Amino acid sequence: MSAKRIAVVGAGVNGVSIATACASLGHHVQLFDESAPFDQTSSASSRMLHGGIRYIEQGHIGLVREALIERDGWLRFAPDATRVERFYFPVYQGAKRGRWLLFAGTLIYQWLAGRFSVGPSQLHSSEDLKRVFPNLAPQGLRGGASYCDVVMEYEPLIQCLIDEPSKQAVRIVENTRIERLYTDGRIDTADQTLEFDRVINAAGPWAAKLLEDSRIESDFTIDHVRGSHLIVNLSLKNALVLQAPGERRIVFVIPLDRERALLGTTEHTHDLANPIVCTDAESEYLLSILNQHLSEPLSTSHIVSSFAGVRPIVRPRDAVIGDMSSASRDSEIEVSDRLISIFGGKWTSARHLGEKVASLV
Ligand SMILES: Cc1cc2nc3c(=O)[nH]c(=O)nc-3n(C[C@H](O)[C@H](O)[C@H](O)COP(=O)(O)OP(=O)(O)OC[C@H]3O[C@@H](n4cnc5c(N)ncnc54)[C@H](O)[C@@H]3O)c2cc1C
Repeated sequence: MSAKRIAVVGAGVNGVSIATACASLGHHVQLFDESAPFDQTSSASSRMLHGGIRYIEQGHIGLVREALIERDGWLRFAPDATRVERFYFPVYQGAKRGRWLLFAGTLIYQWLAGRFSVGPSQLHSSEDLKRVFPNLAPQGLRGGASYCDVVMEYEPLIQCLIDEPSKQAVRIVENTRIERLYTDGRIDTADQTLEFDRVINAAGPWAAKLLEDSRIESDFTIDHVRGSHLIVNLSLKNALVLQAPGERRIVFVIPLDRERALLGTTEHTHDLANPIVCTDAESEYLLSILNQHLSEPLSTSHIVSSFAGVRPIVRPRDAVIGDMSSASRDSEIEVSDRLISIFGGKWTSARHLGEKVASLV
C-alpha cells in the first residue's frame, strides 16, 4: 500500500479519530479546522460512552449492541480517562414508566452488552434510593432500577485524543476554514487551493452544508437538533436518570466531582444560521425537571455554567423530514470519487468510524 496525502476537514472527535487511524496506516495527514480541535459539538456532549439505553425503547437493538461493544474499546484505550458509573432511575407515582418496566429495560441493556457488560442491573426499593440519594424528594417515591455505563473524564480524554494524532505525525491546521470541496482531491481555503489524494469531510453538523456550498450532490442530508446542558452545584454519589414529568423524555444528572453535576439534555430543532447557545427557557426547563425530584430545590444561583451543541442526525435526502424511524441515529459514509463524507455519528462510535474510514482510504 502506498502512502497517500490525506486532508481531513473538521477536528471534532470524528475528524481526529479518522486522522489518527489514517496516519497509523502510514498516510500523510493534514487535519483542518476553522477554529480548534474539539471546539464544537464534541465539547458539548453528555459525556457518556454508551449504548444509549433510551434507544432500546425505540427498538434500535442492533445499534445499541454495536455501541456497547464500541464502549468497551474506550475503556481499553483510555482507562484513566473513563469511568464506570451506576445510573439510577427513581420512579415516582404516576410516572410514564414503572420500576419493573425500567428494570426489564436495564436487564436487556446488560444482556446486550454480553461479555462487555460493565456491571449488573438492579431493582431498588425507595429505601435503597434514599440511602444513595438523601436529597431525593421522598413523597411518592416508588423505588427504581439502576444500570452501569461508561462516562468520560472529559479533559483527560481530550488530552489523550489530541496527543494521539501528534504522535502519529498528523499536521493539525487550526483557524483554517475550508471554503470549498471538490471530488477530485482539491480543497479551497480562503487564499489557496490545495491538492490531496483523498479528502475526508468530517465537518460534523456542517458536513452537508459544506457539500451544498461546494455544489456536490449527496444522497444524505443532516437534521440539526440542539441539546443544552447545565453544570449545577449538586453533590451526588451516582448518576440519576430522570423521567421528565408528563413526557417520554429522560434527563441525565451525572456527577462531575464532589460538588458539581452535569444536567441535560434538551432537544430542539436548530437552524445552523443561529448561535448555538443554551436559552433561558432550556435552562429553566432542565432546572424544573431536576427540582421536581429534589427535597431541596436548586435556584438559578446553583447554575455554574451552561453549554449547547448541535446533534447531526443523518437522513437519506429523499426521506420525509421529521420521520425519525427512517433516520439512522448513527453515521453514514459516502464516497464520491476522491472525497469521503461522514454524516452523523456519536462520540462512542468515533474510533470505530475512524478505522472504517481509514480502511476505505
Ligand atoms: C447535546 C448533545 C449530547 C450528546 N451526548 C453524547 C453522548 O453522551 N455520547 C455520545 O456518544 N455522543 C453524544 N453526542 C453526539 C456527539 O457529541 C456528536 O455526534 C459528535 O461530537 C460529533 O462529532 P464531529 O466530529 O462529527 O463534529 P464536531 O465536534 O462538531 O466537529 C466538526 C468540526 O468541523 C469544523 N468545521 C466545520 N466546518 C468546517 C469548515 N468548512 N472548514 C474547517 N472546519 C470546519 C468545526 O469547527 C468542528 O470543530 C451528543 C451530541 C449533543 C449535541
